[in-house]
Amino acid sequence: MSGRVVAATWVFTGRTDAVIRDGAVALDGHVILAVGARHDIERRYGRAERLDAVLLPALVNAHTHLELSHLRGRVPGGVGLAPWIRLLVSARAEDPRPGRALDEAILNLEEAGVAAIGEVTNTLAALPHLARAGIAGTLYHEVFGFSDARIAASLAAADEMLARASDPGPGLAIARSPHSVYSTNPRVLAELLRAGPASVHLAEDPGERIFCAAKAGPFASLQRMLGPVEVCPLGRSAVAVASPHMGPRSLAVHGVDLDADDLEDLARSRATVVLCPRSNLHVGGRLADLPRLLADGIPLAVGTDSLASSPSLSPLAELAELARAFPQLSPAHLLPLAWNGTAVGAPTVGRLAPGSAPGLVAAPLDGARPGDPAAWLVEEFGAAERPFAWIARARPTQSARGT
Ligand SMILES: [Zn+2]
Repeated sequence: MSGRVVAATWVFTGRTDAVIRDGAVALDGHVILAVGARHDIERRYGRAERLDAVLLPALVNAHTHLELSHLRGRVPGGVGLAPWIRLLVSARAEDPRPGRALDEAILNLEEAGVAAIGEVTNTLAALPHLARAGIAGTLYHEVFGFSDARIAASLAAADEMLARASDPGPGLAIARSPHSVYSTNPRVLAELLRAGPASVHLAEDPGERIFCAAKAGPFASLQRMLGPVEVCPLGRSAVAVASPHMGPRSLAVHGVDLDADDLEDLARSRATVVLCPRSNLHVGGRLADLPRLLADGIPLAVGTDSLASSPSLSPLAELAELARAFPQLSPAHLLPLAWNGTAVGAPTVGRLAPGSAPGLVAAPLDGARPGDPAAWLVEEFGAAERPFAWIARARPTQSARGT
């Protein structure tokens, strides 16, 4: 592939809400050479191919579990998190392997314009599929077990799996992660969060607060179901327990049940909060307080969670849900949540920076003439889950492998 100049009605540059009307991108293969006004780019790089489209950097799905893709539509929601987990565990026990659903999930990610991912996994099943598709990011290799014996067995199983796994190749890293405060031995939870990149489900449900403060409620029953366990209350809330060990490479997934102290703790940790609104509505009927998170300057990203709790793997469809729920927020301010490649260890993804290959996608306008391209992209193109056309693919510049 050689040089190519592509012009479009609108060009988003990514990471922020900056957008250029009648813009263009000059490419050398998949690498961005320059982005700017069409007349300027054409003067420097020659005549552009014109697209009636919105051009934008490829997107980031910062939280999903691809290995649960075959459970799509099979785990009813509306019951709260602890009962939902019981239903998920029994559905997965009956049918543990994703099979062809994994291939379909990769296609769904491509249509949704996704170039980087935060994949949470117990099996590493998606690793070869992601590597083949050239999707960058981090596989958060999840361990859980509250008692010393159970967590030791989970860590040993994860070690064994990692030893057998294929090399993740360029752009993909593997990082051991705790599932959640209510499911993971507190000592190991702290060690894993301190060790480097890690993802943890946090403040997804009010029951976590009761579990941490009083060792009671639905998560205490869930623990008792898994085996005898005697621990004292852990702390004021799940965030109070986890956040002292979190840093800028930590992902706190969900953040639905946060009080003022939790928000302060999270801001201090500099962790990224990953919102999964459609999954939250399915499981517990409640959303994170996005206006408050934005006002507090907490780093944010968006994920879909698995197809067991979400209808698709499209980050833009998640933003459409947020736009519906929070009409006071401008869609332009939502888009950067889907361009946070840094959060999942893929810093080139999400911004059309010269010299990098972040992946470039086009949303065909099909004759639409939006005054606000961000609102059109989120509320029409994204809400309808229309497929993106890929103009250039993401190409990671270096190989990274975690522990
Ligand atoms: Zn999850």
